[in-house]
Amino acid sequence: MGKIISRFAPSPTGYLHIGGARTALFSWLLARASGGEFRLRVEDTDRERSTQEATDAIIDSMKWLGLEHDGEIVFQSTRADRHNEVIDQLIESGHAYYCQCSKEDVDAMREQAMKEGRKPKYDGTCREKGLTSGVVRFKTPQDGVTAFKDMVKGPIAVENTEMDDMILRRTDGSPTYNLAVVVDDHDMGVNHVLRGDDHVNNTPRQILIYRAMGWDVPEFGHVPMILGPDKKKLSKRHGALSVMEYEKMGYLPEAVCNYLARLGWSHGDQELFTMEEMVKLFSTDHLGNSPSVFDLTKFEWVNGQYMQKADPEVLADLLMDFLTREVGEEEAANVDRMMFVNVAPLLQPRAKSIVDMLEQSRPFIVPANFLPYDEKAVKKFLTDETKPLLEEIAGRIEALDEFTEKGLEDVHRQFLEDKDIKFKVIAQPIRVAIMGKTQSPGLFETMMVLGKDETLARMQRAVEL
Ligand code: GLU
Repeated sequence: MGKIISRFAPSPTGYLHIGGARTALFSWLLARASGGEFRLRVEDTDRERSTQEATDAIIDSMKWLGLEHDGEIVFQSTRADRHNEVIDQLIESGHAYYCQCSKEDVDAMREQAMKEGRKPKYDGTCREKGLTSGVVRFKTPQDGVTAFKDMVKGPIAVENTEMDDMILRRTDGSPTYNLAVVVDDHDMGVNHVLRGDDHVNNTPRQILIYRAMGWDVPEFGHVPMILGPDKKKLSKRHGALSVMEYEKMGYLPEAVCNYLARLGWSHGDQELFTMEEMVKLFSTDHLGNSPSVFDLTKFEWVNGQYMQKADPEVLADLLMDFLTREVGEEEAANVDRMMFVNVAPLLQPRAKSIVDMLEQSRPFIVPANFLPYDEKAVKKFLTDETKPLLEEIAGRIEALDEFTEKGLEDVHRQFLEDKDIKFKVIAQPIRVAIMGKTQSPGLFETMMVLGKDETLARMQRAVEL
């Protein structure tokens, strides 16, 4: 077998949702794992339901996930002439024919077949009439089986008598999905088709077209759908969002890929994989054949793991980007990106997403006189007893020659000794003074990120509150 050429063939009738993204990821992995090619085809033949907005969103989502494709994107709508050329060839070679049965005729025939205990299918009454107009139908063989070995589901066989004479070209001249997919996959050199198992019934029909054309039949694999925790079709409420909604929520693309890959693919009981690892380890042998259940809690956990491992420089860029989206470029320019670089490592163990990290970094990026204070915390911790202590320790911090974590630790230790008090007496008051609230990363590291001047300005302001 030559090199693997796989593809993703979305219909741009909506955004790229989690299920579609997973299919794209598996196809991408299949190609990348073997040094093959991954192609992208936009199946925009349904002119009424396809939109440019959806096309753009799909392309953006793929880019964001890092699922870069090889070659040009193929737009199916531009290939109608080629599809019709193939249909004409099928008519010429006797594999297809014009049919003038009305929908009512076909329905009546199907009903009759059902009554006689046969399959409710169209038998091709016009097959031998030699008509020269009408819809074009495929002449399905009237005996034998069409079988293939699904990469995920294993062997599948369908009696040809169960399949009716599918329409290849409608009366308005437009080719149908099954025909267009086969022609496009063939012309694009696709030899591995991985897709959702809502298409598994189309596959024997498509194989018949390949054979009629004398073309090599690709390998097919159909991945089971993703279910919600209620074991029903995944709903919005349970996470069936578009990929870009996860981007907006501050998920990291590698985390999304990692989580999606594990919905249906496994490598022992390993949960976390870098993209490189997935590329190295992926094979369709380990694609599961039962539906996977979407678990938002686990997804959040995976994202948290990636937040922890991320490079602070990368996080800083993302934080800057999210801040800019929120407040605009002008206002965001007031924030020093280095503040994010420094604060990120403090928040990495506790932030679930970029949005969460930005939220937690807010007290760091506002100047002292804009720091919002949690009123309850102020009442409780900035009291007549604690304020003089704060003032005094601020004085000692000011006198520090070296503003380092070690220096801060020493100052505080000495202070507690001199006053004969426990750290907890001053810890929360200091925290509220410099962060405005009772939760924050470690005090000294927080002070280090704020810097000496800002730390003192905040303590001063707190004393004056
Ligand atoms: N365009 C089809 C869909 O979005 C997929 C076709 C295929 O993968 O063969 O469902």
